[in-house]
Amino acid sequence: MYELAERLVREGRLSAPEYLALLTRCDDSTLAFLRNEAVRTAQERFGCAIFVRGLIEIGSICRNDCLYCGLRRSNRRAERYRLTSQQILSACEAGYEAGFRTFVLQGGEDPWWNDERLVPLIEEIHRRWPEAALTLSLGEREEASYRRLFEAGAARYLLRHEAADCALYEKLHPAEMSHAGRLNCIESLKRIGYQTGMGMMVGAPGQSPEALVEDILLMERIVPEMIGIGPFLPHHDTPYAGEPAGDLRLTLLLLAILRLRFPRALIPATTALATLHPRGRIEGILSGANVVMPNLSPEQVRRKYAIYDGKASTGAEAAEGLRLLARELETIGYRINFSRGDYQ
Ligand code: SAH
Repeated sequence: MYELAERLVREGRLSAPEYLALLTRCDDSTLAFLRNEAVRTAQERFGCAIFVRGLIEIGSICRNDCLYCGLRRSNRRAERYRLTSQQILSACEAGYEAGFRTFVLQGGEDPWWNDERLVPLIEEIHRRWPEAALTLSLGEREEASYRRLFEAGAARYLLRHEAADCALYEKLHPAEMSHAGRLNCIESLKRIGYQTGMGMMVGAPGQSPEALVEDILLMERIVPEMIGIGPFLPHHDTPYAGEPAGDLRLTLLLLAILRLRFPRALIPATTALATLHPRGRIEGILSGANVVMPNLSPEQVRRKYAIYDGKASTGAEAAEGLRLLARELETIGYRINFSRGDYQ
């Protein structure tokens, strides 16, 4: 195993069977080696600095029915909310004051947020904070819509591919969603010029190691600027309520592999990772992650954005917890970088 790991470090890539071998048979000392090298790779480019993005969860209303997500439309018990443009602007303002220079608007697929409503909001954010980057994560839309939002001032878009393996994608999603549709969206985003984020959950129900290799290969083909991965976490009101959470060790191994394969990528230590384990965020950074996305949503709606159980939104996960986050980072010799942190 160690030899394979060394070659990944040296050559920056492996073949599919080699990725599979690493994912299934990585011993502890090889994992430690890969994580060390991933950290070294991240530091060469980014130093000991972690970019922060202010995450604003703009609503929990969703027309989709993804089997893993607590906000799926079939979940009658989910609490639904929709922030107003005014509330979103206030959250940006508070974030800007706190030092954030990237805002991420994320939410369920809510048709109320059509272009007529989103474009003026994006333009206003762009006008008021021109030096801040705006990232959207609002699911699947028409290419023409993505284009309008881009022209209005959104520079980045997060749309995890969720599963490169077609059969797995179909298992995790309702029949009306399609693997091809998801990929089309990602390709549109790229074509338009967005810095584009892809990614998947680790340990999603039915996910084989082979499927994870497919995920790596798909990202090799598309070359995302951002890669978001975190463990699958069950939500009690979904069909996957009884499924086990994704594995910490496998998530950290994948983070390390992805950092080594995509040295320039912006890779967050995700909230899901921080929810899975108290040291998740730190261990993620110690596997090559270089982004943290604290929650800027208004306090009263935070618990309603319940995509999985136990979602962390306080302490160092909260925008008010920046000092806490800074202290946590300090313990491993890192500090917050407040710049926009574009892909370079
Ligand atoms: N509606 C948007 C945003 C989804 S939330 C979209 O479709 O892109 C962002 C990510 O959270 C999803 O892409 C998914 O990978 C992740 N997620 C959803 N449910 C989850 C769960 N139960 N456990 C872990 N991650 C989950």
